[in-house]
Amino acid sequence: MAHNLRVARSHAGTACVFAVVKANAYGHGLSRARRALAAADGFAVLTLEEAANLRLMGVEQPILLLEGIFGADEIATCAELDLWPVLHHVTQLDWLQQQPPARPIQVFLKFDSGMHRLGFPLAEHAAIVARTKSLSGLAGMTLMTHFAQADEAAGVDWQLQPFLREMGGHGLPWSSANSAALLRYPESQGAWVRPGLMLYGASPFADVSAEQLGLRPAMTLQSEIISVQTLQSGEGVGYGQLFRAERAMRVGVVACGYADGYPRHALTGTPVLVNGRLSRTLGRVSMDMLCVDLSACADANVGSPVVLWGDGLPADAVAAAAGTSSYELLCALAARGPVMDTN
Ligand SMILES: *Cc1c(COP(=O)(O)O)cnc(C)c1O
Repeated sequence: MAHNLRVARSHAGTACVFAVVKANAYGHGLSRARRALAAADGFAVLTLEEAANLRLMGVEQPILLLEGIFGADEIATCAELDLWPVLHHVTQLDWLQQQPPARPIQVFLKFDSGMHRLGFPLAEHAAIVARTKSLSGLAGMTLMTHFAQADEAAGVDWQLQPFLREMGGHGLPWSSANSAALLRYPESQGAWVRPGLMLYGASPFADVSAEQLGLRPAMTLQSEIISVQTLQSGEGVGYGQLFRAERAMRVGVVACGYADGYPRHALTGTPVLVNGRLSRTLGRVSMDMLCVDLSACADANVGSPVVLWGDGLPADAVAAAAGTSSYELLCALAARGPVMDTN
């Protein structure tokens, strides 16, 4: 992660970097991520609980609450722990008006430039900025938006240009870039960038690999073979017998299943590394086990290591084969597996 943060910073120019560590740092563990990402200028999370945990761990940098406050009762904690809420709805402005923070806090005002998920309509910017400025207990504000297609051919221009055009007159700092925008559109930097996925070593783009972007996987999901079966031609393996052997073959049973966070919908042919050699899954993934093809792994046996993704096997490749994204793969990693620190 520390390496990937340096890559992010090299793209960020003069912008400050919020390391996005929501969803248990995309499955990597909040405390591990905070250690590896200690050089970030700030951290971005979803909940007060995550933010409070970061403060308990000794984080002194700014902490951004990506969805802001969920009730007026959270304002006091923001002031106490110096958390920076994103304000995206008038209800939140009402709460702040009714219960001004005891100590001035920084806020991020989020505008909807086309994603149509969170944010004030761009067209209302003058009134919203003016109303926010009139609130007491605010130390300053940054204007923010979020991209819907930064990782696709459509890009960010259709959102960024209207955002900058409308916001330009306020003379306030701004923030827009997620990983994909940071990597591809230097004009989207603003004062703060907000990379998440890239810090964990996965690529946000379908057509550019993490390696091509200079990123290194921060997580390796590894297990081992706990049984070896020999199938005869026509015999099937696993629930539903979804895979049937066309000739006699050896099959390795791996101690990893969907209860560990491996995608259940990964079909026969999803890549795995057995003894460091590329192979494929066979049949349906079960709760605690999955099967792999040992046809080309004569040396593999009970105890042989199996990498499900990570070092030597990008999560993106597994995600693509399983019809999902590396975001979902990493976040779904279950807490039951033992974890080793590598950086
Ligand atoms: C999750 C999130 C990010 C990080 O996105 P990545 O694609 O993982 O880099 C940035 N900004 C906001 C508002 C987010 O919710």
